[in-house]
Amino acid sequence: MISTIYIEEAVASHPRLADLLRRYPAAAQVGCERYGEVFNRKAQNFRLQKQNPALIAARKHQGRVLPSPPEYRIGEGEGYYFSHLLNCLYDCRYCFLQGMYRSAHYVWFLNYEDFAQDIRDLSAKGPSWFYSGYDCDSLALDPVTGFADFALDLFAELPAHANLELRTKSTQIRALLAREPLPNVVTAFSFTPEPAGKSLELKVPTIERRLAAMVKLQQAGWLVGLRLDPLIYDRNYEDHYRQLFKTLFESADYRLDASKLHSVSLGAFRLPKGYFETMRKLYPNERLFAGPLEQRSGMVSYPQALEQQMIGRVESLLLDYIPAEAYFPCPVPNADSDQHDAA
Ligand code: SF4
Repeated sequence: MISTIYIEEAVASHPRLADLLRRYPAAAQVGCERYGEVFNRKAQNFRLQKQNPALIAARKHQGRVLPSPPEYRIGEGEGYYFSHLLNCLYDCRYCFLQGMYRSAHYVWFLNYEDFAQDIRDLSAKGPSWFYSGYDCDSLALDPVTGFADFALDLFAELPAHANLELRTKSTQIRALLAREPLPNVVTAFSFTPEPAGKSLELKVPTIERRLAAMVKLQQAGWLVGLRLDPLIYDRNYEDHYRQLFKTLFESADYRLDASKLHSVSLGAFRLPKGYFETMRKLYPNERLFAGPLEQRSGMVSYPQALEQQMIGRVESLLLDYIPAEAYFPCPVPNADSDQHDAA
C-alpha cells in the first residue's frame, strides 16, 4: 500500500502517473522539482522508511542504459543494464541497495519510451543483452508499473540478437503468460535455500511459489534461468543446497525441466566495503554480518578458501541436474564493480 506519492515536475502530466493516481486515490500527493531532493536527502533512515516506503514518480534524464560489468554477462555480445525502478518491494538482508541508497522509497521512472530508444540504438550496433533487475526486482511491482508489458512489446519488435533478462524473485508473471513466448527474453529467478530465505529474504514469495511460476513459464514456452547469487553460508549449507535442488528438480507438483533451462549462474556473497558498513549499522544484530567474513580488494566476502569450497560444492551438486552448457559461474568482481543483480 502506497500512502505518499511524490511527483516530479517533469512527469506531472504523464499518462502513467494518471494511472498510478487512479490506483491510489487516497495517497497524499507531494510535488517536487527533482526526485533527488527527496531520495538523496541527508539523515534518512533506510530501515525506518522500508516499513512504509513512498513512491517517487520521476523522469530518468540520462544514464538510462549502462554497460554491465563483463563478469555478469551470460550471453554473446555486449551487455547493458537498466532500471525502470530504484528499490524493491522485498526486504533481503543481503541486498546492496540498502547500502547504496539513503532512502528506501521507490523511485519509478515513467519515461519508458526514452529507455526504449536507448535500447533500440544500442541493439542496432550488434548482438546484445539487456539486464533488468539490478536496482530493483524486475517484476515485483509489475501490477503498478506495467513494465513487463512495455518491455515485451519492445523486444518483440527488436532484432533477434537483442536479448532481455528479467531478473526476479517475484511471481508476477501475468504479462508473460498473456502472450506468445519471445525467444529473446529470459526470466531469471533467484533462490537461496529455505533456511537462508526464511531468515534473510523478508516478504519474498516462498520457494514453492517461485518454482510454480517458473514451471508455468517453462510450460508456456518461455525461457527461464536460475540464479544462485549470493551463495549463503551456514554450517549445513551443503545439505541446504542439496535440498533446494531436490525441490527445484524433483518435486511432485512442479518440477523444472533442467534440459530446457536457459542459464544457471551462481556467485558468492560479496559487498563493497562501504555498503557493508552502512548495512551493518542498519542491522547491528544481523547474524549474516557477523561472519565469517573478510575484506579483500575493497569487497567484504567470505574468506577465500571458504568461498572456493562453497562454489565448488554447490556447483558439483548443481551439475548433477543441469547440462554443463547452461552453467555460467559468476567470477568474483573487482573492487570497482558494485554488487549488481539485486533481485
Ligand atoms: S535482493 Fe533483489 S529481491 Fe531482495 S530486496 Fe534486493 S532487489 Fe529486492
